Amino acid sequence: MKKNDKLGFGTLAIHAGQEPDPNNGAVMVPIYQTSTYVQKSPGVHQGYEYSRTDNPTRTAYQALVAALEGGKYGLAFASGLATTNTILQSLKKGDHVLVCDDVYGGTFRLFDKVWTRTGIEFSFVDFTDLKKFEAGFKSNTKMVWIETPTNPMLKIIDIKSCAEFSKKKGATVVVDNTFMSPYFQKPLTLGADIVVHSVTKYMNGHSDVVGGVAITSDDAIYKELKFLQNASGAVPAPQDCFLVMRGIKTLHVRMERHAQSAMEIARYLEKHPKIDRVIYPGLESHPGHAIAKKQMSGFGGMITFFLKGDLAKSKKFLESVKIFALAESLGGVESLIEHPAIMTHASVPAETRKVLGIHDNLIRISVGIEDIADLKADLEQALDQV
Ligand SMILES: *Cc1c(COP(=O)(O)O)cnc(C)c1O
Repeated sequence: MKKNDKLGFGTLAIHAGQEPDPNNGAVMVPIYQTSTYVQKSPGVHQGYEYSRTDNPTRTAYQALVAALEGGKYGLAFASGLATTNTILQSLKKGDHVLVCDDVYGGTFRLFDKVWTRTGIEFSFVDFTDLKKFEAGFKSNTKMVWIETPTNPMLKIIDIKSCAEFSKKKGATVVVDNTFMSPYFQKPLTLGADIVVHSVTKYMNGHSDVVGGVAITSDDAIYKELKFLQNASGAVPAPQDCFLVMRGIKTLHVRMERHAQSAMEIARYLEKHPKIDRVIYPGLESHPGHAIAKKQMSGFGGMITFFLKGDLAKSKKFLESVKIFALAESLGGVESLIEHPAIMTHASVPAETRKVLGIHDNLIRISVGIEDIADLKADLEQALDQV
């Protein structure tokens, strides 16, 4: 195979990190369902000793995700939050983390309810306002946590500007790239030090695995995270590594369809008399549209909108959809719909939700890759019920 940097995204998605098995020609990387490996003599082995430390299925998967993000190293974990948790273990008491205000609810809970116990400080700031972002730095700021587009308000944060300023301050920049996937956004090329994904979402894309990855090109960061991965042990099982690799083989094709259908649905909702406001980075009306166009090569499959009316109307609408499944999560081939205030963002305090704009008439959809005509008809009939 040619070197990774010469190959297109789709070719990498299918081949990177994966070679036919030299022993038997198997085209797909086997599920190495083993916890341990035989040694010829104490300490003499073929690179594998114990599967918490390394497993050949995981090795292939980690090389694959690294190639897709244009990074040197990939590290896989048992969930997106296990990835985040392990990265936080690289900090120490007294350190400060600057976090964008509208992060994934579970990330917020992990920072605010768990990591504050260890004497690490967090502040949550609106990173779309660069003045507020810069003012958020303290003398002990060691890490900057960016998620863009944010969830569920789909705010667009300028990764390059934030990374440049953070670098001057000596803080490590982490970008949660779950919503865009490397197909549409490559944060390492914009100055991020670490990219994280909940592969549970678009990367795997089939709603049948919970997992996470971190990617970096920095040797020292890799060394530390590799140490922590083994030392704390939140690693994925070989079967899950295999499943995510299989899911990734169609990532480029899926993302194209997600984005194409989301654009069409966003335009449809924008014109609908029962919808108050639609938030989708691909719409000219989105306040972050210009930055989105600059740092993303597509706008993704997530749409947030405000229904005209109250909680009762929102519930009626959510109970009426037939193809869209009323469920948490996102990024799968099937379309999902949810109510952030009651479902995904219930762990965010009501006061904070209000400030962020997560009201009772706010609805989030993850546009799947079903036929667009069926998706639109489903939304139409459910809106008719309201
Ligand atoms: C789901 C999600 C996570 C957490 O990942 P899990 O795999 O559920 O642990 C983190 N960030 C974002 C943006 C997510 O959507």
